[in-house]
Amino acid sequence: MSVKKIAVIGAGVLGLSVARSLAQQGAKVTVFERSHVGAGTSSTTFAWINSNGKTPESYHHLNALAIDEHIRLQQERTTEGHWLKATGTYEWAAGAPEQKRLQDRVSRLLELNYPVQNLSADELKRKVPEIRVGSHAGDIWYFPGECLLVPSVFMAWLVSELHVHNAELKTQSEVTELTEEKNRAEISLANGERWQGDSIVIAAGRWSAELASLLGQQLAMIDPNQPNKIACGFLGYTRPVLTQLQANLITPGLNVRPEGGGRLLLQCPDLDSFANPANPAPVDSYIGEEMHKRLRKLFNNMEMAQLERIAVGQRSRPADGLPGLGYISGKRRIYLMVTHSGMTLGPLIGRLCAEEILHDKRSSLLSDFSPERLLGKTAKDFPAFTTLHFPAAQ
Ligand SMILES: Cc1cc2nc3c(=O)[nH]c(=O)nc-3n(C[C@H](O)[C@H](O)[C@H](O)COP(=O)(O)OP(=O)(O)OC[C@H]3O[C@@H](n4cnc5c(N)ncnc54)[C@H](O)[C@@H]3O)c2cc1C
Repeated sequence: MSVKKIAVIGAGVLGLSVARSLAQQGAKVTVFERSHVGAGTSSTTFAWINSNGKTPESYHHLNALAIDEHIRLQQERTTEGHWLKATGTYEWAAGAPEQKRLQDRVSRLLELNYPVQNLSADELKRKVPEIRVGSHAGDIWYFPGECLLVPSVFMAWLVSELHVHNAELKTQSEVTELTEEKNRAEISLANGERWQGDSIVIAAGRWSAELASLLGQQLAMIDPNQPNKIACGFLGYTRPVLTQLQANLITPGLNVRPEGGGRLLLQCPDLDSFANPANPAPVDSYIGEEMHKRLRKLFNNMEMAQLERIAVGQRSRPADGLPGLGYISGKRRIYLMVTHSGMTLGPLIGRLCAEEILHDKRSSLLSDFSPERLLGKTAKDFPAFTTLHFPAAQ
């Protein structure tokens, strides 16, 4: 059988994951990245590896299996890289509607055999003595199967895997034209270079609609530049602080995860309506002060805590919130991989999509996520999101 020559556009977590799987299975792979590895959303993310608030069931199932895939890769690696922290997540809610919503989610997750445990405030405080659980908090839940990812370490490992499997990574290589014929696909780059081969994978994250438009295709994505909570989210990075927290924490008004070297990463989902990529918030803005105030309320020892910076993450989100994974043309040479929750899904869908491209074998796990439903449409053709900013709808 002849070796397939495949180009991947984008060196974020999705592009690197599929490139690794393709190259590992013997394809001759070239990754074209406009800027540098991790230049897009994969470096401004909360990177909570979970299937906590994911609907419908097929999407939950895909994310749940993706956690297992991450754990397998972490266990199998032969390098020193440790990108996956099997920490679990603690969560509680305050206020009757929020507690009911959390309770309903927990009941559904238990029915789906997703690992969930109930914890008392004393048990939690024994683990993380600095945490303050307010008197209005309802039940505390622990999701022991969930993990936290360190995106930079994970992407470094994926890049090292590309070298191991003889794949080529071309940074500073912007794709400006895509064409496909019956027997081949072609790419033109801004620097005048051209590439020709068997298949092309578009893994360009929030720029996927731009890439699809090079083929004359309209792809329904949420505009990632809109200053609103559907498209964008604040991420607050602290200086090192005095807490022993190792797990992920989802609490009323504040999500917190360890960010290395004693730093924490903060999210206040209800403030994301103010998130505007064209106008980032400085640490002494209202957003910074509010993050700081909530941090002091949630933990002891935070009097001296300082924010180092606030980033605005821009989501790569198909218009109905679900992944678009599959060929986007009748000639079946150009394959799209676009999804939110890509930190969780990356390795699993990387493997499944590589199998489809190389062996023409489509996994039943991908059945609900064909891109056809997004083609020839805009975001206005889909119902508006209503549940996005519930705590676990990351
Ligand atoms: C605030 C926030 C919180 C999140 N939290 C979580 C979470 O907790 N858990 C989770 O699983 N997911 C989370 N996500 C989502 C996750 O981070 C993304 O789904 C994932 O990073 C997308 O990866 P990607 O590879 O598709 O895109 P990207 O990382 O954006 O990579 C796309 C790459 O394509 C390149 N590119 C674009 N156009 C071209 C071109 N013409 N030529 C060449 N290269 C090009 C870009 O430079 C970029 O490097 C979060 C996202 C945000 C914004």
